[in-house]
Amino acid sequence: MSSKTLRLVPLGGLGEIGKNMMAVEYGENILIIDTGIMFPENDMLGIDYIIPDFRYVAEKRDKVRGIIVTHGHEDHTGAIRHVLDEVRAPIYATKLTRGLLEVKLRRGGLLKETELHTVQAGESVKIGPFDVEFFHVCHSIPDGVGLGISTPAGLIVHTGDYKFDHTPVDGWPTDFGKLGEFGGRDVLALLADSTNADEPGWTPSEAVIDPAFDAVFRKAEGRILVGTFASLISRMQQVAQAAMQNNRKMAFVGTSMVENAKMARKLGYLDVPDDLIVDLDQALKMKPSKVVLMCTGTQGEPSSILGRLSTGTNRRFELLEGDTVVLSSHPIPGNEEMVHRTINRLFQHGANVIYDPIAPVHVSGHASQEEMKLMLQLVKPKYLVPIHGELRHFRQHAAMAREIGMDGSSIAVVENGTVIEFKDRKMKVGDRVPGGYVFVDGSGVGDIGPHVMREREALAKDGFVVVHLTLNGKNGVLGREPEIVSKGFVFVRDAEELFAHARDRIRDLAEEADRSELRDQIEKDLSRFFYAETKRRPMVMVFTSPSE
Ligand SMILES: [Zn+2]
Ligand SMILES: [Zn+2]
Repeated sequence: MSSKTLRLVPLGGLGEIGKNMMAVEYGENILIIDTGIMFPENDMLGIDYIIPDFRYVAEKRDKVRGIIVTHGHEDHTGAIRHVLDEVRAPIYATKLTRGLLEVKLRRGGLLKETELHTVQAGESVKIGPFDVEFFHVCHSIPDGVGLGISTPAGLIVHTGDYKFDHTPVDGWPTDFGKLGEFGGRDVLALLADSTNADEPGWTPSEAVIDPAFDAVFRKAEGRILVGTFASLISRMQQVAQAAMQNNRKMAFVGTSMVENAKMARKLGYLDVPDDLIVDLDQALKMKPSKVVLMCTGTQGEPSSILGRLSTGTNRRFELLEGDTVVLSSHPIPGNEEMVHRTINRLFQHGANVIYDPIAPVHVSGHASQEEMKLMLQLVKPKYLVPIHGELRHFRQHAAMAREIGMDGSSIAVVENGTVIEFKDRKMKVGDRVPGGYVFVDGSGVGDIGPHVMREREALAKDGFVVVHLTLNGKNGVLGREPEIVSKGFVFVRDAEELFAHARDRIRDLAEEADRSELRDQIEKDLSRFFYAETKRRPMVMVFTSPSE
């Protein structure tokens, strides 16, 4: 047995749904698993998406031997460009996952300089001191894998995102046999998907969606728009099936949808005849009853196709009276409010909207409680580390593990940044490394910190007040009456008295305060004053200019 410590460093996805990223570290070697993004919650103003705080691996970039991406969903692939900007390491992924990554890398101009290796379920690859065995798992995208990672400290099994579907869209079930084989090999730790830990029973098969889609397609008289993630290739296949059965042509809308569909067809993961597919321009000229459009925007993202249609701001086409919109996904926790708002707006624009409680047009791609217990029974790990979920999911997962006989001390419920160490087959919860949010806003990465978020919240909630001071060049006294402008704070006509008092305070401060600290002091004083008077905290900004 080796004397070095094996460290699992969760950088994202533990304590939240999204931006999955884990570092496995042994001595001078690091293996990264997944590089995902998270979609912003509705209180994160103006943020496009969030990436993991991966400073830990960026600082040790020379030790990173490889990056494994388990499947093609955004919460596992989305941050790849950001990670490669800091950490140059070869990427290992299955054919479809690699195809989806290549679309991203090409867009970022990184494709040529990136070393990519295609792996297949059933294969093993040696990456530094880690022997990685890839095994197939069912999920809502084809070609997903879990990992058996043999390290000098023991065997670690990572489930990836999985469910036990006996009738998956691509006919390829989860590799029960391999999981059972791991069970006979003294697994040190199991890192297992916890997303649906509060769902009792079994997750329904993807197959239940087919009759639901068929029913919707038979009833719809106008156009059908199906909203889903651009990476949900299995769903594209199912919509294609329903379109064929109901004599409709299918068009993909939006760059990522079009590119992913093209790539999945080329690689053979999306099996649709050429004459089924039309481009958007053709589709828009056809009889509404003859087309189905596949587009993005099921999480209420304002910039997505469905988001823009719901606000009447889509450029190439608008919703028509009689359109049927099918939302084939569940809101990610935290997005419910935005999703419901989008559904309401789609109704307002004359569409009939069909979403999960109305018809089973979506099933989860993640294991429910009985499947999670089966996973534990098959793999028989010494330790369990719940991953991919919020704290409440981890607690449930831990409770289930105890139910089937695991000791509480063998389960590590931790959130991002808390290191788990293994030495001499003993687990220890170690130190914390940075593991927070990095906000991506347009093209900027990480320049939006919590401070900027707080400012945006303040602006949205209580507006702002701008004070303009004209200062006399010589002694710094006021050259003119201070001007005050406000937006979103108070109704100005009602605030005459408030602003008159504010001007008095500014004049007093201008006489007393040190010139170099004047702006700062006025901002602080007015913030306090406005809060005392109105119970609101507008952002106060002071500008000075010399008098002519
Ligand atoms: Zn997934
Ligand atoms: Zn995931």
